[in-house]
Amino acid sequence: MEAHRTLLVRLPKDKCDVDYIKRLMALTNLAYWGYEVWAPDLPKEIQYQLYGSFKNFKGSLVFGTKPKGWFAKTWVPLKTLRIYQDDSKKGDPNAPIVLDFKNNVIRLRKVCKNEPRYAVEVPMPRWIIERVKEGGDVRFAMIGLKDDEPYLALVAERVVEPYVPSDYMLAVDVNSWKYGISWGLIRNGEIVSHKQEGINLGKYYRLYDEVIRFGKKYGALKRLGLHKTVEGSRLWSEIKILRMRLYAITRDRAYFLASKLARKALRYRALLVIDDMIEESRRELLEEKLPPDVVKLLMSNLKRFVHQLETLAQWYCVPYRFKRLPSTICPICGSELTQLPGRIMVCTNCGFKAPRDKVPMYWAIKPRPSKQHSRVG
Ligand SMILES: [Zn+2]
Repeated sequence: MEAHRTLLVRLPKDKCDVDYIKRLMALTNLAYWGYEVWAPDLPKEIQYQLYGSFKNFKGSLVFGTKPKGWFAKTWVPLKTLRIYQDDSKKGDPNAPIVLDFKNNVIRLRKVCKNEPRYAVEVPMPRWIIERVKEGGDVRFAMIGLKDDEPYLALVAERVVEPYVPSDYMLAVDVNSWKYGISWGLIRNGEIVSHKQEGINLGKYYRLYDEVIRFGKKYGALKRLGLHKTVEGSRLWSEIKILRMRLYAITRDRAYFLASKLARKALRYRALLVIDDMIEESRRELLEEKLPPDVVKLLMSNLKRFVHQLETLAQWYCVPYRFKRLPSTICPICGSELTQLPGRIMVCTNCGFKAPRDKVPMYWAIKPRPSKQHSRVG
């Protein structure tokens, strides 16, 4: 089995000819639809790659996703040469992308500008070094434009062997940033450890309040027609920076937690069980009468978290599955749970009682849902 992960590296725009890259992308698009167009003024090596070796990879991850239609932006697949610290080499010696682990640089030849000896060097991202340490290899790369900015996509691949899970299970319940992502390490039906991971909510709300305050100020200026003044423009760029910072907080946290939990599962050779009922969490927040803006913020990057967790599980070959782990239904008898202050859930039918964020862990423990429960499962 092969696992893949992709990294995007932004290329220096001043060293790239965007129009040239656009032409290469157009050519790639044509190659997709089975047309061989030999452009006399474009490097032959790149065209050989498109019409030769890459044909077989059509539709595979290497070629990127299938273009949606004619003239859709299609990334250009490129071969790589890897030069390792002990001078050993792998790949095509004439490959346009050279990953030089001796000097820790990536060299791009002939793909940034249409000049025979033109090359661009970018620093080797630490991400690649880490993937290679894990036994990964970067046989292919892609160049393309995203929002008119040139990027290099590096595709790391690794041959993996799934392990048979130990008697550990790691259950992950995705809520919202208000209640965090809760996980429980379970062994033989016992919760060994449990934690709710989140963000610094106080700091997060303070930053949000600032965005609102600045927004009001900007609105007032706009009503006076003064939003294009120096003060107005400065305010606008400050609002944009604050919004980006807000978004970055949850994004960074999502990546951090996905990595932490994937590694935890790997360490215990646990079965990873994920509940990603993000919609239910959104409803819970709306029922609390939080403003839609705040709800949106508190739900931001959670899908990214689940996606990243799944990607990492595949990369490290952690066995995983998605399973519904309800927090409002009794895991013992299936009755509706009643919520007490402090987010404590009780079952009036059988007496089950647990903190709301721990209820999903009991659902994960349940060996197999009976017929009665499968309708909620
Ligand atoms: Zn019950």
